[in-house]
Amino acid sequence: MISWSAYEQFALCERQYYYQRVEKIPRPSNEYLEIGSAYHAAIAARLRGEKFLQVRPDLVEEIRHNLDRLQTFVFPHLRIQAVEQWFDSDKIDLLSGTIPVVDYRGQAVGCDEGRCVIDFKVLFKKRKMERNRGQPAHYCLTTGIRWAAFVEIPRDLSEPIFTTVMGFQQWELDHWRERFEEADKRILELRGKPAEDYGLVRQGHPLCSSKWCFAWDQCPGGKIRG
Ligand code: SF4
Repeated sequence: MISWSAYEQFALCERQYYYQRVEKIPRPSNEYLEIGSAYHAAIAARLRGEKFLQVRPDLVEEIRHNLDRLQTFVFPHLRIQAVEQWFDSDKIDLLSGTIPVVDYRGQAVGCDEGRCVIDFKVLFKKRKMERNRGQPAHYCLTTGIRWAAFVEIPRDLSEPIFTTVMGFQQWELDHWRERFEEADKRILELRGKPAEDYGLVRQGHPLCSSKWCFAWDQCPGGKIRG
């Protein structure tokens, strides 16, 4: 099955997918990716009981502080089974373990066979209250676990750490599987075709800009329609 990041990109803009994954134009790193990766590496190291990793000097204090908060408020509730493991086509930045899920009466409802896929997200600005369920659904489909959780870590240290746990019914997983399979099918149809056959993002989309699209210089799409 297509990886989540490839699906997300393809669903946004087929042409951008083409430039990165077919033509292999290198995608420059950015501040968000760099900081997210530094957090993930530091969290994985802490969970494996390894020493604090070398990170950018300006991030050391912030990450150390957030690791201590995770150690106090989140990690004691987890029984870790795997850290940063490959599943199928995706490397999932995950912990697969148990996380206590309680209902509104305070009673434990538990996760699927006591297992849950957990991903960590660094919050750069405000908390995102609504999360796209596609990504956790992808985690569930690739691991066979029906529960997924996001632990949201704010860069603003005065904000608390949030954990959102999501369970999936079979119909919802089927719905997402269909969407991923449709993308797989279309990618197969496009194989060997020229760039022009790959569709463009919808006109006026905010991510179609010189700031957010690494392929802006190559792609006529945004400029022609701009
Ligand atoms: S410039 Fe716009 S249309 Fe072209 S690849 Fe980027 S997002 Fe897609």
